[in-house]
Amino acid sequence: MARATRTTSSPSPAAPAGGAAPVIPARGLRKQYGDFHAVQGIDLEVRPGECFGLLGPNGAGKSTAMRMLAGTSQRTGGELRILGIDPEEDGPAVRARLGVVPQQDNLDEDLTARENILIYGRYFGLPYSCLRPKAEELLAFAQLTDKADAKVTDLSGGMKRRLVIARALVNEPALFLLDEPTTGLDPQARHILWDRLYRLKEHADTLQQDLARLVAEGHVTAPVTQLTRRASLEDVFLILTGRTLVD
Ligand code: ADP
Repeated sequence: MARATRTTSSPSPAAPAGGAAPVIPARGLRKQYGDFHAVQGIDLEVRPGECFGLLGPNGAGKSTAMRMLAGTSQRTGGELRILGIDPEEDGPAVRARLGVVPQQDNLDEDLTARENILIYGRYFGLPYSCLRPKAEELLAFAQLTDKADAKVTDLSGGMKRRLVIARALVNEPALFLLDEPTTGLDPQARHILWDRLYRLKEHADTLQQDLARLVAEGHVTAPVTQLTRRASLEDVFLILTGRTLVD
């Protein structure tokens, strides 16, 4: 049975200033494959600026839930909004605003690292004049500048994961979904990847602070909430599920 667990740790989320609407409200989210219940009623509420994790042993339904959140799998039941949109009513509008890092790398192996970012950006209709500098920026962020012209087949596992993350940022997503981003990586590759993700979170926090300042100065009226997470997901997993990590 799948269940969702809020993994954001102390400090607990402050009451959202001005009642910021959740970017993901989900109630009783369900998914059945035939008679099999893969996800049995998940309630989620993820607010702007929050880092939110789904925890559970293998087969619990995390990837299935992620696919519903990403607008690539229809729910069997329950209510779901992503950035204010029901993915079943307008999946393309939802997907245009998301960055998705799937569990399995789905890079185009015939292309170079740079080309993977450029072509992916074209799916969002972005012009090459924007994409070219963006690709360089993302390659630098992913520490892949010196691998820009390398074919995907020549990249290590950690490099491929970083490239998938860089590629998923090409449309400057409002919501970033990652499905087990470090699975299968050695400790050093995992460390580099988490470092990149923390930087991303810091960047998002900076944007939140800028927005909060603009609100405080009366320039904009958008509601703002912010939360800092400091916890090892593996520790939280073991505490909450009482299980050892299994394959
Ligand atoms: P997790 O990501 O937590 O490991 P999954 O969401 O991948 O779990 O899978 C949850 C359950 O749903 C598993 O028992 C899996 O076999 C089943 N499942 C996932 N996708 C399908 C599918 N397309 N058809 C049938 N069963 C599926």
